[in-house]
Amino acid sequence: MEMLSTEVSGFLANSSMIRKMFEAGVELKKKYGADKVYDFSLGNPDLPPPAQVKAALHEIADKADQPFALGYMPNAGYPDVRAIVAAKVSEEQGVTISANELIMSCGAAGGLNALFRAILTPGAEVICPSPYFVEYGFYTGNFGGKLVPVKSKDFTFELDIPAIAAAVNEKTKAVIINSPNNPTGQIYSAKEIKELCDALHAAEEKFGTKICLISDEPYRFLNFDNVEIPSVFSYYDNSVVIGSYSKNLSLAGERMGYIAVNPKMYDLEKFMAAITMTTRILGTVNAPCIGQQLLRTCINAQVDLEVYRQRRAVMAKVLEEAGLEFTLPRGAFYFFVKSPIADETEFVKELAESCVLAVPGRGFGCPGYIRLTFCVSEKVIANSADAFKKVMAKYK
Ligand code: PLP
Repeated sequence: MEMLSTEVSGFLANSSMIRKMFEAGVELKKKYGADKVYDFSLGNPDLPPPAQVKAALHEIADKADQPFALGYMPNAGYPDVRAIVAAKVSEEQGVTISANELIMSCGAAGGLNALFRAILTPGAEVICPSPYFVEYGFYTGNFGGKLVPVKSKDFTFELDIPAIAAAVNEKTKAVIINSPNNPTGQIYSAKEIKELCDALHAAEEKFGTKICLISDEPYRFLNFDNVEIPSVFSYYDNSVVIGSYSKNLSLAGERMGYIAVNPKMYDLEKFMAAITMTTRILGTVNAPCIGQQLLRTCINAQVDLEVYRQRRAVMAKVLEEAGLEFTLPRGAFYFFVKSPIADETEFVKELAESCVLAVPGRGFGCPGYIRLTFCVSEKVIANSADAFKKVMAKYK
């Protein structure tokens, strides 16, 4: 008899490719030394948090001897922090929301789970353009939902709207998009978002259902070319924005995120009560109190975007000179690069033999590509040039 559920045992047996690369990296670093291994496998923000975070932590520590300084709070979060974050989201979305339309969550990941708990019933489908952040499959599956990936356009990774429209049916409960995107680094244009929303309006009409459009935006600030990141709130009433401070404040371990809901959401008050309740009953109870308190003074701080922009430039040069093909990422910190051979897992193995660690695209539902992360120093990126050239020499 097994203690574990068959489902989770199965997950373990197929454990994530990113994890496998992580383990391979540890081995290689032991063997050759950390400075000889070019590890582009993990999306773990490596810049220190901005100075304001340290100052805010000192202030929080100074007040930690007060009653309730670190105590329970309303499940939705501190009311004043919700108002501060709502004001920031209003600026970003160009649509005014108040604290009543926003709750704090345990990172974007916790926010997505609270949201899916509130809207999914077993068998409900969630459409997602692929390639995609692989955890979406687990998060929907946690509540009996089914992720339905729809392939984006080859190489540019623009949305394939007719294909998404064709995938919608009466079981479709939500569509989740992520822009700037992990793993492609692309940002959807206003035209794509408008066309997507038109297709969803038509589907709601056709099937007599409500479809929630979820925009997962933890990389919103990582927008290298200052292009417009369209506001889903302006195009679609039944929309939710999920955000996080994991990347812009380099605060991933503190698990700070939020769920912002369009003020025109169907049955808004009940929707907010539901996601507040699911935050509680999932056992997270409320978002971390220290992280929330930090936001009182750090809401407008962020890590130095210029560092990431410069790394993007260096990596683009390294990859180009090695003869690899890719669409330049406009945001986030990933390159999604075409593999020179159809089986990208083979290519990833060859790269690893030259101490370059990448993740196969099939880990994101998109074989034939590899993902490289630039959460590593510019020096590491520059030093990897010879290794890339050596592997690619075989394909010239
Ligand atoms: N969504 C995407 C697309 C991500 O890449 C990540 C983290 O890498 C998350 C959500 C989760 O972020 P958080 O740390 O805020 O939970």
